[in-house]
Amino acid sequence: MFKKLGVVALSGALVFSGLSLSTTDAAKPDYAGKGKENGNNGKAENVIYMIPDGFSANYAANYRVYKGEEAIWDDHLEGMFTTYSANSDITDSAAAGTAMATGSKTNNGVVGLDPKGNELKTILEAAEEDGRSSGLVATSTITHATPASFAAHVEDRNDETEIARQLVASDVDVMLGGGKNKFLPEAQGEHQLNLLEQAKEQDFEFVETRDELMNISDLDVEDGDRLLGLFAEEALAPELLREDTEEPSLSEMTETAIDVLEEDKDGFFLVVEGSQIDWAGHDNDAAWAMSDTAAFEEAVEKAFEFAREDGKTLVVVAGDHDTGGMTTGTSGSMELNANILKNVTATGDQMAAQLNGDRSNISEVVEAHTGLRLAEQEIQSIQEADDASFAINTVISERALVGWTSTNHTGADIPLYVYGPQSHKFAGFHDNTDLPKMIAEAMKLK
Ligand SMILES: [Zn+2]
Repeated sequence: MFKKLGVVALSGALVFSGLSLSTTDAAKPDYAGKGKENGNNGKAENVIYMIPDGFSANYAANYRVYKGEEAIWDDHLEGMFTTYSANSDITDSAAAGTAMATGSKTNNGVVGLDPKGNELKTILEAAEEDGRSSGLVATSTITHATPASFAAHVEDRNDETEIARQLVASDVDVMLGGGKNKFLPEAQGEHQLNLLEQAKEQDFEFVETRDELMNISDLDVEDGDRLLGLFAEEALAPELLREDTEEPSLSEMTETAIDVLEEDKDGFFLVVEGSQIDWAGHDNDAAWAMSDTAAFEEAVEKAFEFAREDGKTLVVVAGDHDTGGMTTGTSGSMELNANILKNVTATGDQMAAQLNGDRSNISEVVEAHTGLRLAEQEIQSIQEADDASFAINTVISERALVGWTSTNHTGADIPLYVYGPQSHKFAGFHDNTDLPKMIAEAMKLK
């Protein structure tokens, strides 16, 4: 018994030493009282539903080490929830998004329909019917499964051109993300619809660069003005590579969406997805996962700031499933080391693309982008790998003591963070289908 307690105490001490070592200034930030006192019992006029795709408790723990202090959401944990889909123990993002948007389970791959193909009403659509404005923000294509689940209804998540058509025809007022190609005639096959032209005819102001987004004219959503921002042909760049593009950050898109939507006196419903945490998880790319989590946290900070000022805004932060079965620590070590990922300046994919034909420059490329001097056997593992990118990610993850158990999603339970009015009502253990029901209750939606 004593021995066991000793082990617990020891590992706790190591965790804290890891945290303080990785911080230049070990002082803890002040999170006291943020938000909780703001009209906790009032109705949520506005909701910002923030989804870090693929993010689970192990991401949260590694992220704390990476950052060197608590994340902004840590103080606002209210519960956890299960994620299984109608036909699988492990969900995909379509079934998870549909559950989180409609309160009903569906099969993997299906967007906004039940397993029999019946259309499900989403909480965004219900908020629109209640007179509120709405928005979708993502770093993937805006037609990707998670954002699509809130305003489209299709049998197959891959049918992104049909999703684009439905999004343009929907009541959504603000859409910001990637996926311009899905709205252009080439992608429409025989339909030859130019959905961008159609969107402009339907009062959408259209922007394509960060500069254009930061300089949009005064839009009045109450008067029918809408905003469509598509900043890349396909997905936006990973946060690690964004500075070489003309794309806005997730927090800039979030801030602009809030600015536009808050003009609606009846309130708004905004969905913000940190889409690529999931893609990083599939690639077991720990640095990409952490840097995109940091970009997502900046967006959450914008949402919390607005909610704190406003006092009538509920912010719900919930991943849709775990990706990669990330672990916090690996066997053979009792320490955490994710803080070294802060030095990484490229994804594994990008580093692999810089290798020459015989991969004789592995140590130069990896050191240039990570600051790590590789050992002979690490170089050899990359040299001999079928997939150099994955091998680079594996070496970096091992150095960071971040483990992975899968290249797909897992069935891990997901932490639920809530800030603002009614947040205490989210306390407890839930299923993903409970989330939109609790949000609807906080909004007093029928
Ligand atoms: Zn995924």
